[in-house]
Amino acid sequence: MPTQPAVQPGVLALHVPPDAVAREVEPPFRNADEASAGVHDKAERHQDGAGHQASPGAATEGGAAAVIPRTGAETIFGSYEITLEGRVLHGNVALKEHHIVERDGDCFLLRVADMAATPVAPALARLLASWSPSPGTLVPDGLMQALRGARLVAEEASHEAPTPLKAAAAKDAEPNEDQPAPGAVASITIFLAQSCNLACSYCYGQAGTYGGSGLMSAGTARAAVDWLLANSGSASKVHVGFFGGEPLLNLPVLKEVVAYAKERSAACGKEVGFGITTNATLVDEQVAAYIAAERIEPLVSCDGPAEVHDRQRPFADGRGSHAAVTAGAARLREAFPGLPARAALCDGADPFAVRRGLEEAGFARCSLTLASPVLLEDAAAPEDPAAREAATARMLAYRRAEVAELFRAIVSRTLDSERFSEALSRLAGLATGEKRHATCGVGRGMRAVAVDGGIYPCHRFVGLEEARMGELGSYRSEGLNDYHRAAVENLPECRTCWARYFCGGGCFYENLARTGDMHRPDPLFCAEQRAVTEDLIAGWCALDEEGKAYVRERIAQADRDLDQRP
Ligand code: SF4
Ligand code: SF4
Repeated sequence: MPTQPAVQPGVLALHVPPDAVAREVEPPFRNADEASAGVHDKAERHQDGAGHQASPGAATEGGAAAVIPRTGAETIFGSYEITLEGRVLHGNVALKEHHIVERDGDCFLLRVADMAATPVAPALARLLASWSPSPGTLVPDGLMQALRGARLVAEEASHEAPTPLKAAAAKDAEPNEDQPAPGAVASITIFLAQSCNLACSYCYGQAGTYGGSGLMSAGTARAAVDWLLANSGSASKVHVGFFGGEPLLNLPVLKEVVAYAKERSAACGKEVGFGITTNATLVDEQVAAYIAAERIEPLVSCDGPAEVHDRQRPFADGRGSHAAVTAGAARLREAFPGLPARAALCDGADPFAVRRGLEEAGFARCSLTLASPVLLEDAAAPEDPAAREAATARMLAYRRAEVAELFRAIVSRTLDSERFSEALSRLAGLATGEKRHATCGVGRGMRAVAVDGGIYPCHRFVGLEEARMGELGSYRSEGLNDYHRAAVENLPECRTCWARYFCGGGCFYENLARTGDMHRPDPLFCAEQRAVTEDLIAGWCALDEEGKAYVRERIAQADRDLDQRP
């Protein structure tokens, strides 16, 4: 082992930035301006937001050895020696934050900050995993070349020519008039009904009431639209989602508020789009025709095959609702052929069987999630940890199978972007370099409005008194920093997680329900996120250039389709 070399700051490019410690001790939350303003914030404002964690001594002559983390920002890997004009000089070698994935003996390297993944020689991968780095350890020439070849050396890693999509992503980071300013709201979910004609066993909204009850008045619904438009800043498009309970229990107000929103947004020079989450049991021919005519994008709650669905989602009188749901969905499908379904899994449900049941019922796009714990008062009994662990393992197997299916579709050039929209949105990170700074727009670009006019950061928080942000007439924004500052780079658990720009930090409601802290994710969730992301990295690296170009083209097309929607 060589002795500690003399480091010549400023002579070599390979050194710890002098503000390393200043960045390390920054409080995680500084000000709301740092926050992302939307669901997919493409801005790269936190290039090394996880903060450098190397010791200042590492950059100075004779400095003490650093405590070197294995994840999070750059790490000092060792020293490098060069001879310049007859003098032997030493500098520290800092490596970019990275993560190694191993699958079936093949190894892949993710560079976290630039979202780039490449195959890497297993020998180098093993060495990176086992190396005990220290500023005093001399890095041999051959290894130095290999590190450079992998573009891992800190100040050499970002010299990659941007792909057209990466360039586009960077451009999107620039302010533009379609993006709401921080604090502006571009989307609201209106609770038309806090009551339901079903009595789902797991309803986190207490049988659809969310601690409140009844139907929203037309006056409140109109006021919600006025509030949205008044708070939408320079956003040229706004979105109104209808939710409940079952929103179609309040059809007259739905019709009134859609007409009102179109009229008011047109007067403001904005486009408005609509969506509805429904159990579809009340969708007859007339309702289906109305939803189609107004292009209110539907999402149907359906829990899979009849035997599972009827057990979990009976009518209030105990009858199964599967037949009514699939009949209503069939009517909607005439105008919305890709009609999506969302299923909640509980009581040991098998996700593969649930998916098959949904596909047999005609749903081409399905989103499956584990049923959430209930946070409202009088909640059901807490979950059994062993059952939850088993359910998470089943979901992980399902998601990994989905990723494998995604890559088969890519290789056969039969990729249906809508069918694989969830997995594809993660793959976009590798394909375009687009980072995910937050899972959603909770408390940023979105709000929910309850039947009584109460404002909440998103639909899941409705009924939770501590999350309430006043009413339409007396909105309180002081709690917003909890959301605005919570970009993934700032969250205590996430800021050093290699998967952060794929994950976004998870759902705040789920975090709160599972760990008691909306900024602290559940370890089971994290394990699932990382495993699926590793599969995506391995699959991406195995594609040839044509396959990668095909993926980029499909992502660009999906983005164009999305842009064309109001
Ligand atoms: S939620 Fe978990 S997996 Fe996601 S970024 Fe945070 S720590 Fe990583
Ligand atoms: S906090 Fe959770 S439920 Fe709310 S919008 Fe975000 S992901 Fe959805």
